[in-house]
Amino acid sequence: MIVAEQKPLKEIIAMTSPFKKLLIVGCNECVTVCHAGGRKEVEQLAAALAMAAQKDGRPLEIKEVTLERCCDPEYIEQVRPFIDQYEAVLSCACSVGTQYFADTYPTKWALPALNTSFMGGSLAQGIWAERCAGCGNCILHETGGICPIARCSKRMLNGPCGGSTGGHCEVNPDIPCGWQLIWDRLVALGRTPDYAKIMAAKDWNTSRDGGPRKIVREDLTI
Ligand code: SF4
Ligand code: SF4
Repeated sequence: MIVAEQKPLKEIIAMTSPFKKLLIVGCNECVTVCHAGGRKEVEQLAAALAMAAQKDGRPLEIKEVTLERCCDPEYIEQVRPFIDQYEAVLSCACSVGTQYFADTYPTKWALPALNTSFMGGSLAQGIWAERCAGCGNCILHETGGICPIARCSKRMLNGPCGGSTGGHCEVNPDIPCGWQLIWDRLVALGRTPDYAKIMAAKDWNTSRDGGPRKIVREDLTI
């Protein structure tokens, strides 16, 4: 899932303070799961912004709505009947959703309430970790199912750097060395000879380095 966290309230107040009529939109998908931008967070944020406006003596009218998904035109359309009553959308969706609002409603400000951080999953209650950097050409079958791009701080592709110590990354000892994790998996799988295979230089054209990407499934397009 996409993992995000709410921006500091002070930053959101500064971003929204020029507006008197604000539509706050949450999303029922990833950002609900990571407790950043679902219905509950929208309610809490609306209350905090209303209090801040009252304290500053600013008029502020807020409408709250939480859509099923904010990265899908079908759901983004659901605010069309009332969006003209508001000056700006404060999006509690991930930054993909915020851009869907900007694209769909060109005359409305689309403001991000969240910092969208990474693709990852839950480790424990309240803890999420990055697992994929969206390189566009997955090599997990060659690395024991552990991603050297998302989980090695230097994106090393052929074994660890010289800073790997006791299974920890030199960038931060709290981070497990991605290549230690890969080695441990190869041991567990009985595939240690794979470690000696030299991986060719990666073609980063399939990643962000190749520019904004698009997937077109002709079997699904109308
Ligand atoms: S190899 Fe690429 S697609 Fe596969 S998990 Fe790593 S970043 Fe994601
Ligand atoms: S210590 Fe390990 S995870 Fe950290 S940069 Fe070096 S190889 Fe990558």
